[in-house]
Amino acid sequence: MTSRRSLLSLLALLPLTTSAAPPQTPPTPQPPTPKTAVIVVDIQGDFTEAHKGSLAVPGTDATYLAAVAAATSSLKAAGLPIFATQDWHPANHISFFSNHPGRKPFESISLNGRTQVLWPPHCIRKSQGANLLLDRNLFSAVVQKGKDKRYDSYSGFKDDGGSSTRMESLLRKADISHVIVYGVATDYCVRATALDAAAAGFHVTMITDLSRGVAPASTTQALADLKAKGVRVVPKLSDALPPTPSTPTPR
Ligand SMILES: [Zn+2]
Repeated sequence: MTSRRSLLSLLALLPLTTSAAPPQTPPTPQPPTPKTAVIVVDIQGDFTEAHKGSLAVPGTDATYLAAVAAATSSLKAAGLPIFATQDWHPANHISFFSNHPGRKPFESISLNGRTQVLWPPHCIRKSQGANLLLDRNLFSAVVQKGKDKRYDSYSGFKDDGGSSTRMESLLRKADISHVIVYGVATDYCVRATALDAAAAGFHVTMITDLSRGVAPASTTQALADLKAKGVRVVPKLSDALPPTPSTPTPR
């Protein structure tokens, strides 16, 4: 009885407390807005001609880097979260030809049923060549990959052994549905990252003007592979702008 009475007296107080609150406006229904993030792939010294990298991708001169920096800054200014991937290998990494006696750079070998391209040593963690060439303040997070000596990791989402990076959970946490991807190299890490983003269910747009490939034939093939998996391949940043709320894209 006592508790019922105290409940009643509490209820009697309620109109007073609610009348003190500001008037409530009903929530306006919002159409689902595709939320876009950006993944900038492996803009690191060792992958660029501008920094005389050990695995410099053709066309990665100062002009290219300036274009990537300008585009990334403008996307950041537009309020988009920007994520970077960073190749970050131990010195004894399996992808380095020098860790396979008798092998040469750019040879392909079979390793436990996978094809492994043997690269010149590159992006050794904490080395100068592993540094990101863009302002760190642009990035919501930097996702490092290829840290396990046993596996290569072209993708920013997972390595060849199937271990996931933080990328997908970061995107999910930010409620992202659309990612814009560009960087180096089109035919390896950009390709793998964009394909894994699409496989994870994100809408994906890849920008060719802001990307560079290792070789023409594999770059052409990579763009075909991306299109086949539903990735929107566009030449310019201005073509990559997210769909507007008035024209939502079905998932
Ligand atoms: Zn690597």
